[in-house]
Amino acid sequence: MQQVWTILKLINWTTQYFASKGVENPRLDAEVLLCAVLQCERIQLYTNFEKPLEPEELKTYRGYVARRAAREPVAYILGHKGFLDHDFKVTRDTLIPRPETELLAEYLLDLNRDAGPREILDLGCGSGAILLSLLAGLPEARGLGVDISAGAVSVTLENAGRLGVEARCAVLVSDLFSNIPEDECFDVIVSNPPYIPRRDLATLQAEVRQEPSGALDGGEDGLDFYRRILADGPAYLQREGMFAFEIGIYQGRAVRELCQEAGYDKVRILKDYGGIERMVFAAKEGTSYGNKIMELKER
Ligand code: GLN
Repeated sequence: MQQVWTILKLINWTTQYFASKGVENPRLDAEVLLCAVLQCERIQLYTNFEKPLEPEELKTYRGYVARRAAREPVAYILGHKGFLDHDFKVTRDTLIPRPETELLAEYLLDLNRDAGPREILDLGCGSGAILLSLLAGLPEARGLGVDISAGAVSVTLENAGRLGVEARCAVLVSDLFSNIPEDECFDVIVSNPPYIPRRDLATLQAEVRQEPSGALDGGEDGLDFYRRILADGPAYLQREGMFAFEIGIYQGRAVRELCQEAGYDKVRILKDYGGIERMVFAAKEGTSYGNKIMELKER
């Protein structure tokens, strides 16, 4: 007799299958993918354990399961990822937004709330998660997002529309500053650049290795992009402006020094929820941002 695939049976089977493939949270992922197929909330799985799937649903689910077992990230399978209050489209052209990056955006919201019409530049905007969250939270702010990847630029544009901030946002294909008009000047330059030291790329989790290497590879010591941004950035930053960076593990001291060498002497390094130094904020001494950065309350 043919097996009847109920919700509970599928969850149990998929959980052990994912576990055997080294998936970190096998049951959670089994449930999340099933919810996507059934278009329901997780709680509804629990109240419908004995419900059998329709053949079409089963077929779709099997496809998802095969992809996840091959260690494709859930966000690529579903095509979107939550970040702060919003849902962002993601594709294989974009890094998947991370929880620690939410913290960077939240600090920037704190630093710019009621600050008036800020101009924000996001270098390597990817899905647009940082820039567009800032524009959504700061109704007077305007932004430019640039990315070297045309695919990423079109995803940012689409997400700008989804969040309803497209009127205050421009997006450009550009290798850092290369295509930004010389007369542009910003109050905030933010970047979550590629920062993984090249020799570490091969040791990353299988899922991360499916993300674009151009969004991860920070050169020999992982610091290439901070050097380039701090070399060219000051010409595009208001004298009173600030830099905000996400950084990789053990990079705090080096990035602090790069900021100071570029003349941004008020530097604050903040940790992520795992206690790892994860972001750097920098501005000039005697500026309002310089003071605010030093006064930021650790979240
Ligand atoms: N946070 C990413 C990771 O840990 C790296 C992102 C980046 O290089 N900017 O895989």
